[in-house]
Amino acid sequence: MNLEHINALKTLLSLPKKIAIIPHKNPDGDAIGSTLALYHYLKNKGHEAVVVSPNDFPKFLKWMPGSETILNFEKENSQAKDILKHAEVIFTLDFNHLGRVGQMTKNLETATATFVMVDHHQEPSDYAKIMYSDVSMSSTCEMVYHLLDYLGATDDITAEMANCIYTGIMTDTGSFKFKATTSTTHKIIAALIDKGADNTAIHSRIYDTNSPSRLHLLGCALKNMVILEDYNTTYITLSQEELDQYKYTKGDTEGFVNYGLTLQNIRFAVIFIENKEEGILKISFRSVGDFSVNDFARRFFEGGGHTNAAGGKSDLSIEETTTYFESLLPQYKKELTQ
Ligand code: 5GP
Ligand code: MN
Repeated sequence: MNLEHINALKTLLSLPKKIAIIPHKNPDGDAIGSTLALYHYLKNKGHEAVVVSPNDFPKFLKWMPGSETILNFEKENSQAKDILKHAEVIFTLDFNHLGRVGQMTKNLETATATFVMVDHHQEPSDYAKIMYSDVSMSSTCEMVYHLLDYLGATDDITAEMANCIYTGIMTDTGSFKFKATTSTTHKIIAALIDKGADNTAIHSRIYDTNSPSRLHLLGCALKNMVILEDYNTTYITLSQEELDQYKYTKGDTEGFVNYGLTLQNIRFAVIFIENKEEGILKISFRSVGDFSVNDFARRFFEGGGHTNAAGGKSDLSIEETTTYFESLLPQYKKELTQ
């Protein structure tokens, strides 16, 4: 974050403000962890802060300190709209263009607040007056830690904040194994444990939350897995019918796409998940090495993200989408097999 933006943020926060903090739609551990950590910090500093989520978030994040205060834009619509309208400052965390908040997009576009972006995705758009965008960062949560450091506020990190920041770093780094995990990431993790992050409990609350039906859904997903050896690529499909059969609830499919990457030689793994209510397939892309799923998702599936993890969508049926997907692979054969 450059000095000009740090100073602008210091000035902005020097007097108590009405502040809204926004994660992306379908928020994950990093989005909820970063928004809640910032929420606690700003509240402790005397600001009037509230996290407004575009929609609901997974059950396995609902233990997080402050999560009970999060407003759901879909469910508490008029209250949420009112907050966005009257906010003096709006922080957008873990996303970088306003299309990532679903129905809330137009409310952000017409808001009069000063926007602050904290994000680690590629190709940020320019809606924020104060920007902290760094694609080399492991997670937005790691950036929140750095942000607090820039504000001279690491001593103000409470155990609640430490638990929130730890969670997002852990989930976005695949438990500290992805490429963006640096020695600095580990130093921050150490500092967070010293400040009260309960690392064992966090891990268990996030990952040891299976229900029998979720494991059966995973079994179904793995059975549906298609392996395209010629392209070192694998994909999974889940239809609405299958989701219903295994009593799908939000968050149940988290991490399914990663199983594909545990196969030897596989460089590109995808999951297509039908959502009848929205009339789309939600798609997750993962890769290892230089193949950019951010570029792929952006080019063909109205999405984006990071080089090795991205998302997108399709308006076609599962069959049409997978046929289309397979037709795209020959042009990447070299990249995927060399
Ligand atoms: P996931 O597959 O876990 O939903 O998302 C992987 C990464 O891609 C995350 O960093 C997420 O924020 C981003 N992402 C997911 N869906 C979309 C999308 O539709 N558009 C963009 N730009 N990014 C997405
Ligand atoms: Mn993130």
